[in-house]
Amino acid sequence: MTATVQPTASHFINGAYIEDSSGTEIPVIYAATGEQIATVHDATADIIEMALASAKAGQKIWAAMTGTERGRVLRRAADIMRDRNHELSVLETYDTGKPMSETLYVDATSGADALEYFGGLAGSLTGEHIPMGQDWVYTVREPLGLCVGIGAWNYPTQIACWKAAPALACGNSMVFKPSEVTPLCALKVAEIFIEAGLPAGVFNVIQGRGEVGGALVTDPRVDKVSLTGSAPTGKKVYAAAAAGMKHVTMELGGKSPLIIFDDADLENAVGGAILANFYSSGQVCSNGTRVFVQSGIKEAFLARLAERLDTAVIGDPMDGATTFGPMVSENQLDIALSYIAKGKDEGARVVYGGNALDREGWYIQPTVFADVNDGMVIAREEIFGPVMAVLDFDDEDDVIARANDTEFGLAAGVFTSDLSRAHRVIGAMEAGSCFINSYNDAPVEAPFGGVKASGVGRENSKEAIKHYSQVKSVYVRMGDVEAPF
Ligand code: NAD
Repeated sequence: MTATVQPTASHFINGAYIEDSSGTEIPVIYAATGEQIATVHDATADIIEMALASAKAGQKIWAAMTGTERGRVLRRAADIMRDRNHELSVLETYDTGKPMSETLYVDATSGADALEYFGGLAGSLTGEHIPMGQDWVYTVREPLGLCVGIGAWNYPTQIACWKAAPALACGNSMVFKPSEVTPLCALKVAEIFIEAGLPAGVFNVIQGRGEVGGALVTDPRVDKVSLTGSAPTGKKVYAAAAAGMKHVTMELGGKSPLIIFDDADLENAVGGAILANFYSSGQVCSNGTRVFVQSGIKEAFLARLAERLDTAVIGDPMDGATTFGPMVSENQLDIALSYIAKGKDEGARVVYGGNALDREGWYIQPTVFADVNDGMVIAREEIFGPVMAVLDFDDEDDVIARANDTEFGLAAGVFTSDLSRAHRVIGAMEAGSCFINSYNDAPVEAPFGGVKASGVGRENSKEAIKHYSQVKSVYVRMGDVEAPF
């Protein structure tokens, strides 16, 4: 097993793998077994310097190409990713522990979607002509320069592509630092870019923990930082970037509400709540972990939810039949278990699961708490595990106020058959990514991102272009200059 996943070297810089084993070791652990399957090393100061220097030089070459040429490279990379979907999905499963029944359909494929979408846009990123009588102004949409991408561990291929695709489409270069928990997949993305014809140095991957990320964020050559991570890390990275007046995109955590009215289609509402809490073993930032259920549907909802959870296939992530895998790491398992203990202590009622599984690897049962109230820790803090909190409500205005009573604002969802109510409630939600009679869809065509402590900026869609480019405005005078003296 080790031979198949151990990368050629820890880092990928200027078009090639490079190792510097003087950096601290980062063990890569397979979540399903607890076994070490690879080793990489923290980037040293020399590696960080090489990556930034190569991205600085690469950006000039890349930005000098036309948008159509850049787009062609991105679209070729998308095709290669789709051709290699199986191999990339296996690697994603080793990196994260997520089951193949997920990775085959959402990881390399959504990465390829982003490369294809932004590849298609690259040739049409133009400015405008603004007539001013005889004179005129024209605007030029320019790249920002050197971008740093820093990833979380739940979607390592997708996060690398969601950042690289719009950045590169706009003519920027990137140094990407994956999470130290899942260092493998971004290296494959870098390899594929080179195969697709990307000039060396335009997309570089270096490994490391928070300190390596910190060194990248504070380097004066860096123009933009895009982080996917927790809110506390986001605050630190945002502050460090602000000190250098750098652009940022912050994709952070959440504690999103999912509101289910009495008139909702029960089967769809239960399905939505399952997607909102248990996909990727609950390790999804936009999850709707505060499930507000109107009293008339509550018992039917809980009963049907338990029936459907009984059909989850918990097991070997490499087995195509498995639908629920382990937590990404022992640390994340411990975090989820500690929140479950807090929920029990605070008097919430466990109606499903609640325990770790007695087997190798970092497995936990899908867990549902009922009778949760707004003040409980499990209703306030992001758990990032398969722990659903069900809260009761009767009144629409009341549930809107309670849903918004959180520091976070990443996502929100509503299930109801009353269309006016659906739009009214979603209109009142303080959240960036919302769902009506659905949950957690994230197509590349739609903007994705949060408000409040969940972040700034948007990934995906045409919105992302604004976050990876800047506008130069040029006033052109056709006549004489009139000066006062
Ligand atoms: P984390 O905040 O611990 O780490 C995120 C990344 O930041 C890692 O690569 C880490 O090495 C790096 N980092 C840590 N300290 C740093 C510093 N001082 N300077 C620069 N980089 C630093 O998050 P995590 O545990 O890897 O991921 C889980 C979190 O990510 C959850 O809160 C989840 O909601 C969030 N998330 C958000 C989105 C989104 O799009 N909004 C997507 C996935 C995950």
